[in-house]
Amino acid sequence: MTFRAVRADKTDAGQTVRFVDMEDADLMDGDVTIRVTHSTVNYKDGLALSGKSAIIRSFPMVLGVDLAGIVETSGRPDFAPGDEVILTGHGLSETHFGGYAERARVNGDWLVKLPTGLTRAEAMAIGTAGFTAMLALIALEQAGLEPSSGPALVTGAAGGVGSMAISLLADKGWTVVASTGRLAETGYLKSLGAAEVIDRATLSAPGRPLGKERWAAAIDSVGSTTLANALAQTRYGGAVAACGLAGGMDLPATVAPFILRGVSLLGIESVHCPAPRRLEAWRRLAADLDRAKLAAMTETIALDQVFEAGARIVKGETRGRLVVTIP
Ligand code: NDP
Repeated sequence: MTFRAVRADKTDAGQTVRFVDMEDADLMDGDVTIRVTHSTVNYKDGLALSGKSAIIRSFPMVLGVDLAGIVETSGRPDFAPGDEVILTGHGLSETHFGGYAERARVNGDWLVKLPTGLTRAEAMAIGTAGFTAMLALIALEQAGLEPSSGPALVTGAAGGVGSMAISLLADKGWTVVASTGRLAETGYLKSLGAAEVIDRATLSAPGRPLGKERWAAAIDSVGSTTLANALAQTRYGGAVAACGLAGGMDLPATVAPFILRGVSLLGIESVHCPAPRRLEAWRRLAADLDRAKLAAMTETIALDQVFEAGARIVKGETRGRLVVTIP
C-alpha cells in the first residue's frame, strides 16, 4: 500500500522538496509504526521546506519535525496498537523521516503517550514550539524566579514559541511584556495574557551593556541584539531563557549583566531533551494550558498547504501555531 509524503531529495541539480508516493518498505528503521494523523509547521520546518537551509542532514528525508498519531505495530511492550502517541524533535526531518507522511516508523524511546486530557490535534497545536516554551518556563522556575520576582518579557511574541510562552506565563500569574514587530496583533497578544505590548524595534538596535532594569525573566526566541538587550535590561538576579534565532544567531552582548547583576542566561534545547524532563513538560502542558487560548492561537491546514505555510513562517508572517492534518 502506498502513502503520500513530503520528501526532500538531493541531486546534482540541487535540493528538491515535493510530494512522493512511498511504501512501508521505504520507511527508516524503528520498532514502532504509526499512522500519522497530525503534524505541525514550526520555524525549523519552514527552513527545511525552503530547500535552502542546512536543517536536513541526510537525503532523502521526509520533512516534519513533529507528529501525532496512532500506533499500528509495536515491537516493544510499552506501546501497543491503538495507543495515541506524540513525537517532537529527536532528529525528525534532520536524520530520521518526519511527520509530513501518512505513516512513520520510529524508535519507541522517542515517543510520548498522549497525555490524558489532550487530543492529538491539541498536542500538535502545542508541538515543538509549545514544548519549548514550557521548557523555558520550567528553566526560569528552576532558576528561582516566580511571578512576584517581577515582569517577564517574551520576544517574538506573535510567533509559535512566543504565543505559547505568553499564555503559559500569564496563566501562572506572571505579568507579561510582549515584544512584537506586529503591533496590529496587540489585541491578540493581550487576549493570550500580555499585560503590555512593546515594539520589537525598541530591542533590536544595539544598546548599552546595562540598561534600565525592566524585567525579572525573559523567554527569547529572537536572539542577536534582541537577546543582548533583553539581558541588559534584566533585573538583578533575573534570568533569560534563550530558545531561538528568528532575528539572528549571533549574540553581540557584554558580560556586564552576568557579573554586575547576577543575571543568568539559560539555554533551551528541545530536540534531545531527556525523557524525564520531556514527560514533566508534557504533563504540565496537559494540566496547565488554557485550551481556549490554544484554539485561538492555532490555524489548521492540510498537508498540501505546508509549502505555502513554510514560506510564511520564515518571513515571520504566521501567527501562533500551525497544525497540519494528515489525510
Ligand atoms: P515563529 O516564526 O512562529 O515565531 C518567530 C517570531 O519571531 C515571529 O513570529 C516574529 O514575531 C519574530 N521575528 C521573526 N523574524 C524576526 C526578526 N528578523 N527580528 C526580530 N523578530 C523576528 O517561529 P517559532 O516560534 O516556531 O520559533 C521561534 C524560534 O525558536 C526559531 O528561531 C526557532 O528555530 C526556535 N526554536 C528553538 C527550539 C529549541 O529547541 N531551542 C525549539 C523551537 C523553536 P513578531 O512578529 O511578534 O515580532
